[in-house]
Amino acid sequence: MAKIFCVANQKGGVGKTTTAVNLAAGLAKLNQRVLLVDLDPQGNATMGAGINKAELKSSIYEVMLGMADVATARVRSEAGRFDVLPANRELAGAEVEMVELDNRERRLKDALAAVGEEYDFMLIDCPPALSMLTLNGLCAAHGVIIPMQCEYYALEGLSDLVNTIKKVHAKLNPDLKIIGLLRVMFDPRMTLSQQVSSQLEQHFGDKVFRSIIPRNVRLAEAPSYGMPGINFDPSSKGAQAYIAFGAEMIERIKTL
Ligand code: ATP
Ligand code: MG
Repeated sequence: MAKIFCVANQKGGVGKTTTAVNLAAGLAKLNQRVLLVDLDPQGNATMGAGINKAELKSSIYEVMLGMADVATARVRSEAGRFDVLPANRELAGAEVEMVELDNRERRLKDALAAVGEEYDFMLIDCPPALSMLTLNGLCAAHGVIIPMQCEYYALEGLSDLVNTIKKVHAKLNPDLKIIGLLRVMFDPRMTLSQQVSSQLEQHFGDKVFRSIIPRNVRLAEAPSYGMPGINFDPSSKGAQAYIAFGAEMIERIKTL
């Protein structure tokens, strides 16, 4: 059965999508079977995987509302060599339409179960909000990967996220764990980055991943070419860091 991880942080622009897409590509390079689940109406993970969100036949929206199954809605990222359950702005409507449905926080979990045997990993790219969509992600997952920038305000929203994860663990999904905090867009020349980074290590110990993702322009350029950074420029520092993170994840899941 696939191990399922949410990439979540309710802060916007902290590197969730870049992490989800490049971890998917990194794991695929390490011969893992991967499904990338785009749970954000922005559809950035879909586009970053090289799939045109404007031309989807069906998407995660239909899946969440029970009008399509995952096997029908998924598409292949040829660039990244993984499958994608794609999203576009239609998904924003699902939030409202789901209000009337039973088990509305478990729609995604139930849908993904049907293809669980076909993958080693499923990675869910969450939107920047603690919404019903994110709740569906947290209910479906075994663990959460939290990307963080090492800046002054980084820790500010973290307690809200940690409390939400604790509540979901207690009430809805006893499997759910924080797998780790991932330091992203890291700039080793900044003293503040170094300071926040060591504070994180002191505070959260081995919940902080060893891998650190540097700020690297190739990762930011890749989506406009419809490719994960890992495939766009495999020798770049950013690509290398996400491959190392993929290897660290494969190691981590053995201890789950
Ligand atoms: P949102 O909350 O809107 O979904 P997000 O958390 O998914 O945002 P991303 O879209 O991954 O964040 O990243 C935000 C911006 O930072 C993007 O322009 C992305 O290309 C850039 N970026 C992410 N990681 C890196 C990195 N390691 N180096 C350089 N740029 C990066
Ligand atoms: Mg995003």
